[in-house]
Amino acid sequence: MYAFVTGGSRGIGRAIVLKLASAGYDVAFSYSRNKEAAQGTLEEINQRGRAGFSVKMDVSIEDEVKDAVKEVECRFGMLHGLVNNAGVIHMKGFEAIDLSEWDNVLKVNLTGVFLVTKYFLPLLKKSDNGAIVNISSIAGQTGGIASAAYSATKGGVIALTRKLAAELAPHIRVNAVAPGLVETEMTKDFLKDQENLRRMESLIPLGRIAKPDEIAEVVLFLLSPAASFITGEVINVNGGRYMA
Ligand code: NAP
Repeated sequence: MYAFVTGGSRGIGRAIVLKLASAGYDVAFSYSRNKEAAQGTLEEINQRGRAGFSVKMDVSIEDEVKDAVKEVECRFGMLHGLVNNAGVIHMKGFEAIDLSEWDNVLKVNLTGVFLVTKYFLPLLKKSDNGAIVNISSIAGQTGGIASAAYSATKGGVIALTRKLAAELAPHIRVNAVAPGLVETEMTKDFLKDQENLRRMESLIPLGRIAKPDEIAEVVLFLLSPAASFITGEVINVNGGRYMA
């Protein structure tokens, strides 16, 4: 089984790559800048006895996505799973966002999902049971603590997931995972403020922030044959935040 994960060098993407490798997938993944972190992920794939490789690819640059597809085609020939995980955030209020920040978040979080899905689709179509998982966020459902640009993209990812699921059925399943707060570099600065941390924990019925591995577990399930009758869904992995 072959999978490709965007943004696999760190955080949730890295946990997904390693979860898939542990489950027997050969995994290729992308990073945008952090080559050292990508190398670390790669070593851990190999420690699990699986093949893998990394590609440097900005998901918002069409030519880089096309080059990555060529490399994955050359090494794997096909894909069973695609995970659109790469994302960026700006933690600021609506009035503080300028156009360049707005454009950057939209290009990476939404246009990136479009480009990667569009160009990797032919490789997924070579499999009998291809599946896509897009990483959205609770921010795309509730607004959340992130910027308006981030929330808009994550809501867009949910809409895109449903549209793609309908268009690509019955051959390829498409689902989304919407995590609540997860301990990664993306949230490190926000959560190192003890007041922020306590406030967020008090809003989560399970009383804590998620670990990346808890998101990866759900992604593995959605890609697997165990989820063979699930498509167009959004699975919330947020510690019960919706009930609070
Ligand atoms: P993270 O720790 O900041 O890691 C981001 C990953 O995306 C890195 O691998 C990074 O590569 C890659 N990346 C960034 N910009 C990119 C670009 N332009 N092109 C390609 N790759 C790029 O973030 P995370 O917390 O793991 O988040 C992963 C996903 O989960 C994102 O979509 C995020 O919105 C979503 N999410 C996160 C949380 C949370 O609380 N952390 C909650 C809900 C949803 P480099 O290492 O090369 O920089």
